[in-house]
Amino acid sequence: MSPAKRSALMSRIRGKNTVPEMTVRRIVHALGYRYRLHCRDLPGTPDLVFRRMKKIIFVHGCFWHRHQDCKYAYTPKSRQVFWRKKFRLNKQRDLVHMARLKNDGWRVLVVWECELASPKSATNKINRFLERRGSASTVVRPCPRSAP
Ligand SMILES: [Zn+2]
Repeated sequence: MSPAKRSALMSRIRGKNTVPEMTVRRIVHALGYRYRLHCRDLPGTPDLVFRRMKKIIFVHGCFWHRHQDCKYAYTPKSRQVFWRKKFRLNKQRDLVHMARLKNDGWRVLVVWECELASPKSATNKINRFLERRGSASTVVRPCPRSAP
């Protein structure tokens, strides 16, 4: 397999440049923010990175990332042992990446695939996250005085 072909295949497996991700990119662009894509130097290769603001947006597919109580996060009927293990590892990996990023002072927003079904509320959510200074709701900061 050629490197180009392999990388195209890997990008599909890793869920890069998916329809949900393109939707989020369009929203963020329309809001007037600039970002970098798929930064490999950061844990989890975040989808959208706002370096100056130290913010990150992940666009998560509900199935692979196991969106809690979401109808898309079903478990296939066959090969249940295989799937359960795979899902457990996926979740674990996400948690590790998230913890590392937050430790390094990044503010992280996860946009779930199913949330994009209502573009308006998705836009609001993204806008609130990006315009907010200081701590995001996903980050618990022990000392409020340390906020800029
Ligand atoms: Zn979902």
